[in-house]
Amino acid sequence: MNADLHCHSTVSDGRLAPADVARRAHAGGVTLWALTDHDEVAGQAEARGEAEALGMRYVNGVEISVTWASRTVHIVGLGIDPACEALVAGLYATRNGRAARAQAMSDALAAQGVAGAYEGALRYVSNPDLISRTHFARFLVEMGYAASTADVFERYLGEGKPGYVPHRWSSLENAVGWIRGAGGVAVVAHPGRYKYTPLEFDALFGRFLDLGGKAIEVVTGSHMPDQYREYADVARRFGFEASRGSDFHAPGEGRTELGKLPPLPSDLTPVWERWL
Ligand code: AMP
Ligand code: MN
Ligand code: MN
Ligand code: MN
Repeated sequence: MNADLHCHSTVSDGRLAPADVARRAHAGGVTLWALTDHDEVAGQAEARGEAEALGMRYVNGVEISVTWASRTVHIVGLGIDPACEALVAGLYATRNGRAARAQAMSDALAAQGVAGAYEGALRYVSNPDLISRTHFARFLVEMGYAASTADVFERYLGEGKPGYVPHRWSSLENAVGWIRGAGGVAVVAHPGRYKYTPLEFDALFGRFLDLGGKAIEVVTGSHMPDQYREYADVARRFGFEASRGSDFHAPGEGRTELGKLPPLPSDLTPVWERWL
C-alpha cells in the first residue's frame, strides 16, 4: 500500500489540474490517493474520476484552515462527502476574506519595496476565491526577490515576517464538526510546522481528541525525518492513528514528490485502514 493522502491542485494553490495530479500520483507509485485542496472540494469529482480510471483507490479530501491559540493550524478531512451542505457552506465562509487579506499582504510587501504583488500573484491564481501566500511566493521568486518559495516564506511571508498579515480562519470546533458531519475523519496536518509551546501542543491534541479528531500526519513532505519520529511518539502517546502525505503542490517546488516518502512506523495504525 503506497498511500499519499495530502496534495494540492489548481483548485487551490497547486499548479497541476486535479486529473494531472492523479496521473503524477499514479506514475509515482501511489495506490491509495486523496487530493486535499485548501478550503475547497471542487476538484474531488475530477480527481476521483481520473484516479479510478488509472486503477488507484481514491479517498475524498480537503485541508481546512483553522485559527487556534492565535496561530494557523491545518486540519485535513478524509473520506468526506463533498456534497454535504454544511461542509460546503463552512468552506465557503472560510475562503471568504482571502481577497482583502491579499490586498493587505500586497500593501505590506510594497512597504518592503516589492511593487505590484497583488497583480503579480493573481497571474498565478487559477481559482479566484483562493488567492494564497503560495501565489505571492511564486511571484516573488519570478521577480528575483528570493531563490525559492521556501526562501520567500523565510524572509517575507512566514508568520511574523514583514509581508505576513494575520488572518482569522475557521475555529477548530467548526472544522472538525464539518468534517465529521460530512462522514469524514479529521487529521491534524503537518504538526511539526506549528510554533506552539509543548503545553499548547498538548492542549491542541487533547482538544482535537475531545472533538472527535482521530489522526495526525506523521510522515509528511512538511516534516524533516527527525519529526517523523517525534510525531510517531505523539501518535502513540495520544492514541492517534497516523497519516502519510507528500503535500505536493507543483513539480520542482517543495521537498517531496507524490508517493516517494518513507512508510509509517509499523506499530502505528494507518488512518487509511478503514478504506481498504
Ligand atoms: P495561506 O493559506 O494563504 O496562508 O497559504 C498557506 C500555504 O503557503 C501553505 O498551504 C503552503 O502551500 C505554503 N507555505 C506555508 N509555509 C510555507 C513554507 N515555509 N515553505 C513553503 N511553502 C509554505
Ligand atoms: Mn498550500
Ligand atoms: Mn497545510
Ligand atoms: Mn497542504
